[in-house]
Amino acid sequence: MSTRTLALTDEIYRYLLEMSLREPESMRRLRAETARMEWARMQIAPEQAQFMALLVELMGARRALEIGTFTGYSALAVALALPPEGRLITCDISEEWTAVARRHWEDAGVADKIDLRLGPALETLDALIDGGEAGSFDFAFIDADKEAYEEYYERTLTLLRPGGLVTVDNVLWSGSVVDPSRQDADTEAIRAFNAKLRTDGRVSLSLVPIGDGLTLARKKG
Ligand code: SAM
Ligand code: CA
Repeated sequence: MSTRTLALTDEIYRYLLEMSLREPESMRRLRAETARMEWARMQIAPEQAQFMALLVELMGARRALEIGTFTGYSALAVALALPPEGRLITCDISEEWTAVARRHWEDAGVADKIDLRLGPALETLDALIDGGEAGSFDFAFIDADKEAYEEYYERTLTLLRPGGLVTVDNVLWSGSVVDPSRQDADTEAIRAFNAKLRTDGRVSLSLVPIGDGLTLARKKG
């Protein structure tokens, strides 16, 4: 027993997966296909996808937003968790990676729930705000280029309803956040982002050590 979060050995991690992972077959197939790709490590972990799906269910979310689609694994998890009338808008710039996503969303029967917006995410988010959609989203997931995290976060907060939840990926950045020798732009951006949220009174906050670190920030009412 311990009063701090347990460090996971490979054995404990395997046990966690064996005891709790309920990955749908459609998600397993997408994960297997992505695993053969060069940038496979960009995909979130399956237990994280399951956790995010549970959050979507808990909130009874209907409108979800994602920034960073890649091959569509996190989007598939969220879409499967949304009710039949639920909708996910997901943003990416890659035709190639999102073509894989579209194929798997079709196969999983959730393509109708997912609206892929190809183009720089900041432009998509600004268009949503300009189009009068501020305050209308229940749930969001930020997982694109790290240097723009702060800008994604600010726009996402505008788009969320009071009580809405934004989840932000890679906030521990494989531990680089505490390695002083890491001074690259991505690491610095994540450090600055984490420091900003530390004192952001607009949200309730939790940094969950799942996957590469997932911050949950609930917009206060
Ligand atoms: N959430 C995905 C998953 O779990 O499979 C992984 C997303 S991956 C880490 C980041 C994605 O952000 C890439 O697919 C990349 O093309 C996209 N991206 C990078 N810069 C972007 C930008 N300016 N606007 C929109 N998407 C961007
Ligand atoms: Ca990520």
